[in-house]
Amino acid sequence: MNLDTSLPLKFIVVYFISFSSLCWAQQRRCGSDELMANMLRSPEYSKMHNARQAQFKSNLEKRTTKTTQFGEIAPIRIPVAVHFPNGLESDRSCLEALAQNQIDILNADYTATNSDFNLWIAASSFYPGINPGDANVQFKIASLNHPANTDADLVEGEPAVTIGYDFGGHGGTFPSMIVSDIKWAGYINIVIGNLSDDELLGFSPVGGRVQSGGAVVMRHDVFGSGTGCVDSNTIPASPFHLGRTVTHEVGHFLNLAHPFKGFSCTSDDGIVDTPNIKVDHTNCPSPGSFDACDPNENALTMNYMDYANDACMYMFTQGQISVAEAYLAAIESDFKSGVLSIRSQGIEGVSIFPNPNKGSFNLKFQTNATTDFEVRVFDLRGRNIYNNTFEPSRNLNQTIHLENTQAGVYLMTVSGDGGQQMTKRILIN
Ligand SMILES: [Zn+2]
Repeated sequence: MNLDTSLPLKFIVVYFISFSSLCWAQQRRCGSDELMANMLRSPEYSKMHNARQAQFKSNLEKRTTKTTQFGEIAPIRIPVAVHFPNGLESDRSCLEALAQNQIDILNADYTATNSDFNLWIAASSFYPGINPGDANVQFKIASLNHPANTDADLVEGEPAVTIGYDFGGHGGTFPSMIVSDIKWAGYINIVIGNLSDDELLGFSPVGGRVQSGGAVVMRHDVFGSGTGCVDSNTIPASPFHLGRTVTHEVGHFLNLAHPFKGFSCTSDDGIVDTPNIKVDHTNCPSPGSFDACDPNENALTMNYMDYANDACMYMFTQGQISVAEAYLAAIESDFKSGVLSIRSQGIEGVSIFPNPNKGSFNLKFQTNATTDFEVRVFDLRGRNIYNNTFEPSRNLNQTIHLENTQAGVYLMTVSGDGGQQMTKRILIN
């Protein structure tokens, strides 16, 4: 008799526990807040952190008083190194491809050229006054002058992807603390491994330190997209299988806080255009479905710095991008020189300013650009709406006029004589 009644109950209890832990495991959790709370208890770290923040704030003020300054120069190129301490050398080509896949995702997300960016068109009506940001940056895996005595398989000209190198000396399982490796000073390091707190997807300091070889740390199953590398246990797992956890953690490294900072409406992330929120938003909320602290605002749940699933986050705000760019300007001199391949002419010699959202914007060519550039603008159905060729040697500044173009998202391609091509997604509103 006892058996008859207790078995189903036991089953229900066991079932309930497993189901709840499954749900928990599938919700995003980032360790950056705990990490910063711990680190800032150290007077030494705190002093260093405050000094860097002061430099950053001064940069940010300069930017806000002269808004087009940043866009007028060529993109900041960010040397990245990727480390798989638990990976297998036999997986090298797979791991290098996975690393490049993640870098492509970072570049798309930070320049608003991600393929799901068009979701913002429908969402934007819930967020009046908020515009997506578009950073003038380029993440690139370093390929030259690799540091000595790290991974004997690194080859000059090939990507800075270490496999089996014990980055930071943690044996491939990382505690929630600042992870760095002085041999890899001068890069933004991304380390993929096991985490001591396995419920975290990743963590990074808010305001990372390049000169000490600082890193963002990712759980082995949230790096890159696609099928991953089975033997090295780096298989992107749904719902965090589109590389957005790295976008989020690199955001912390570039000084972005969670918009739910402090889990209170009285503290926020310090960014004017991110609606202040009290709690994070997990899973896949519909746009406008959660209130922000201000009764007139909705939570910006699709923002990379909130906690939605990878498929449901797709934008930074302009304010966030200003912060990231100002922080980059503060640490740019710490990047190791001579580790990126150089293309002296071509697409990297052109930049767009200001943010092209009023139907007219400028192209600025670098003084050393000598090739002609063909500029085309397409709508999302591939119809050409603008076409012109420029000779930058004659005029370094060119204006693209699209004032009579219907509001919406467009793709602009700039092609150089050498076959190089840059594509930018532009929003005209
Ligand atoms: Zn985070």
